Amino acid sequence: MRKILIFGVVLVFGMALFMGAAPTTVQAKTTFITIGTGGITGVYYPTGGAIAKIVNKKRKQYGIRCTVESTGGSVFNVNAIMAGDLEFGVVQSDRQFQAINGSPDSEWDGKPQKDLRAVFSIHPESITLVAAVDAGIKNIKDLKGKKVNIGNPGSGQRQNSIDALTAVGLDYKKDMQAEGIKASESAGLLQDGRIDAFFYTVGHPSGSIKEATSGKRKVRFASITDVDKLLAKYPYYAKAFIPVKLYPGAVNTEDVDTFGVKATFVTSAKVPDNVVYAITKEVFDNFEDFKKLHPAYQVLTKKGMLEGLSAPIHPGAMKYYKEAGLK
Ligand code: GLU
Repeated sequence: MRKILIFGVVLVFGMALFMGAAPTTVQAKTTFITIGTGGITGVYYPTGGAIAKIVNKKRKQYGIRCTVESTGGSVFNVNAIMAGDLEFGVVQSDRQFQAINGSPDSEWDGKPQKDLRAVFSIHPESITLVAAVDAGIKNIKDLKGKKVNIGNPGSGQRQNSIDALTAVGLDYKKDMQAEGIKASESAGLLQDGRIDAFFYTVGHPSGSIKEATSGKRKVRFASITDVDKLLAKYPYYAKAFIPVKLYPGAVNTEDVDTFGVKATFVTSAKVPDNVVYAITKEVFDNFEDFKKLHPAYQVLTKKGMLEGLSAPIHPGAMKYYKEAGLK
């Protein structure tokens, strides 16, 4: 087998030389791209997987090989894309807005990420506050004096937790013991009694929240209310609720009020148009198949996937949207 292969390579190489072509033009070039996601028990990780699956099916046609990486989340993804370490990433819509605008109160204060480009938006995410019943937490205001995981520094949820706490008059540095641990560890820590509650900005259903609500320690979703001023101040926040029927292990019997954002798919202006075009086209042309890849996609519409984007749309994606009559 090996011999045949070597023979084949020599033959092709020889033919190329014979024909006067540079040997490198013989082999079709493969473009390797990586999508940054989040913790493996979130929805970003399977989302990266869903996009990669659809794109890799056409590997021969496009010469694109797409892989997925588990990361610390939205903020990490934006920074890694801007540094050229990742080509694509899933990023909360609020983080996209802050990064492109260099918003104050964000990691990019005064440093707009000018090369950030939007591709499309995906599933809704809600600021989810999961708490142990024995800690007596029913509402965000009950977090005073508690041990709470507000999210690791690279995550999208960290700033959402801080915003929500600030809105109800709580200072995460003074009023509680705030932890900055990765979301993938939250469920285990809660079940082990090492934290009283955690925040996670995530689509539903998610593996992490299922894990947190199906252990021995009884768990409930705590509501996040009285945040009207916050929602009025920031264009990217909107009212949302946690659909409790997705988590039969939680003690709640009714949907829980909170607020939310959207997951979005972003890239850099430096990523070639043909690559962004191919991904956009494959996701949209196979929309019904794509939607089946995660229950959080049930609510998706093609039109809705062009909403919630604040960075300029990448020209490769725009080319597809124009062709498809979506723009
Ligand atoms: N929204 C989270 C973040 O930006 C990730 C959620 C997920 O992985 O589904 O860090």
